[in-house]
Amino acid sequence: VFDVSKPWLNRMLAMESKRFLTAVDTVDFDIPKGKTFALVGESGSGKSTIGRMIVGLQKPTSGQVLIDGEDFFAIKDQKRKLAMRRRIQMIFQSPYASLNPRWRVRHIIGEPIRAFELMPAGEVDKRVAELLDQVGLAKSDGEKFPHEFSGGQRQRIAIARALASNPEFIVCDEPTSALDVSVQSQVLNLMKTLQRELGLTYLFISHDLSVIRYMADEIGVLYLGRLVEVADRDSLFENPRHPYTRMLMDAAPHIDAFGRTAEIVSGEIPDPIDKPKGCSFHPRCTLTEDRCRQERPAVREFDGGKAKVACHLCTA
Ligand code: SF4
Ligand code: MG
Repeated sequence: VFDVSKPWLNRMLAMESKRFLTAVDTVDFDIPKGKTFALVGESGSGKSTIGRMIVGLQKPTSGQVLIDGEDFFAIKDQKRKLAMRRRIQMIFQSPYASLNPRWRVRHIIGEPIRAFELMPAGEVDKRVAELLDQVGLAKSDGEKFPHEFSGGQRQRIAIARALASNPEFIVCDEPTSALDVSVQSQVLNLMKTLQRELGLTYLFISHDLSVIRYMADEIGVLYLGRLVEVADRDSLFENPRHPYTRMLMDAAPHIDAFGRTAEIVSGEIPDPIDKPKGCSFHPRCTLTEDRCRQERPAVREFDGGKAKVACHLCTA
């Protein structure tokens, strides 16, 4: 379904995953059905790795991915594994690399339906037409090839393909960051509408706080593979508690406008393979004390459980 057998996509995945084999550690969050949980962090924080492990594209070196309490990578029965995969789909960052350039759009969108054997072959085209309509494309667009579409339209095609297997959960990995600002909000609005209509649950991965503020119900701030703050949207934006969350926000001056990139933060993200001791943020933190260099801060709850923060100094 994710075309992992296709060389161009394999290259893309290999490129991204190489560095982060040991990068994600103790990441724990719940997403209520029908809601959006956003993961934010700089590139190199491990966001995409988490997304790919959830959809089964990348196996954790240790630990498990539990879906309804069941360890996905331990399932031996291929039929059951396929049934599990059907429920969880992914929309990738690049609408250019994630669609097979040699397939007509109706073939691309129909592939999951065939792969999961969801309906008789004769009914697939009708379903594809429905999906095209659902994402705002015309039935005749199914006859075209990906290169005939703009970036925004391609991402609509990717969304239709993700919806084709009737998933419950979609991992959206920077779905609009490759798009023009004017197109971003249209795609985000489409995703919101689809979520409402179909009761979808999203894990939304982005480095862009303005996009996250628009999309998320709850937010996890990821730093070097660990969640340093998890809070509901209002709590996080009104009162960012972790020094790293504050640093990200200071770097995004216009958090209400679309299309901001929040990459201008002070200092460099350390090598995820060689994490600093204690609090891994200490080399960049302005509040660092001795114990920050020695002790890894525990996760503590604030605001009646609405925020969880891993920082020695956080008090309220
Ligand atoms: Fe900064 Fe210390 Fe808090 Fe880490 S634990 S974020 S170094 S104050
Ligand atoms: Mg990424």
